[in-house]
Amino acid sequence: MLKKMTDVDVRKGIKNVLTRIEEACKKRPPELEAVEPRLVAVSKTKPVNLILEAYEGGQRHFGENYVQELEEKATNADILEKCKDIRWHFIGHLQKNKVNKVLCLPNIYLIETVDSQKLATTLNNHWPKFGPPDTKLKIMIQVNTSGEGEKNGIPPAEVCSLTEYVLKECGNLQLDGLMTIGRFGYNPEDGPNPDFLCLKTCRDEICQNLGLDWKNINLSMGMSDDFEHAIELGSTNVRVGSSIFGYRPRKVRE
Ligand SMILES: *Cc1c(COP(=O)(O)O)cnc(C)c1O
Repeated sequence: MLKKMTDVDVRKGIKNVLTRIEEACKKRPPELEAVEPRLVAVSKTKPVNLILEAYEGGQRHFGENYVQELEEKATNADILEKCKDIRWHFIGHLQKNKVNKVLCLPNIYLIETVDSQKLATTLNNHWPKFGPPDTKLKIMIQVNTSGEGEKNGIPPAEVCSLTEYVLKECGNLQLDGLMTIGRFGYNPEDGPNPDFLCLKTCRDEICQNLGLDWKNINLSMGMSDDFEHAIELGSTNVRVGSSIFGYRPRKVRE
């Protein structure tokens, strides 16, 4: 049967992105050669059948940024039955009053968007009610590297203090890395993306000030338009949506 124009070949999309990731890895400085970037397939607005297809093709990490949508997908009967090893990343803005709704979900793996002490505290306090006993919830600290007012994330100057707070006061959380969205539409031909450089500098600072090993702190940066550039600059976690699942009409506020 002929495929409709709107059908996307998700497996092919994943394969293609993985090949491009591999190629970008070859262009990195030698000290990064040991690190293998993780692909997070961003499935927001896309139907469950495409997630199933991607999972069957070997993809395990998926990202969603609306609480209700993640809830529907993570508790979907087919996903629960067929995707036992799926790993959900929450990549949207998380309001404190929605924390329980996310933490109770099966296979929630990582909250990428912690941007305040209050949110960290709430996650820390609630995780023991939901997570398997004696486990820590993985989180990333979201940094507003571009300084744009409408973007979530903490200013780079506050990353050290929030990191220190998480390490010292939040025994139920495990710091997995730092995350940025960055400014929209930056052209890599203008040189290394300042948002990506900034996130890397933040990591250097927390590692130096708090005695952490940089190899244990992921950098979540790079999306469909710029993930190769981000990898060349040290990204270890790329969040790719439309290059895998096809065009997605933009919401007014994303
Ligand atoms: C939508 C989204 C992505 C993926 O964007 P694409 O351009 O479709 O790859 C990545 N990160 C976040 C936080 C998003 O909201």
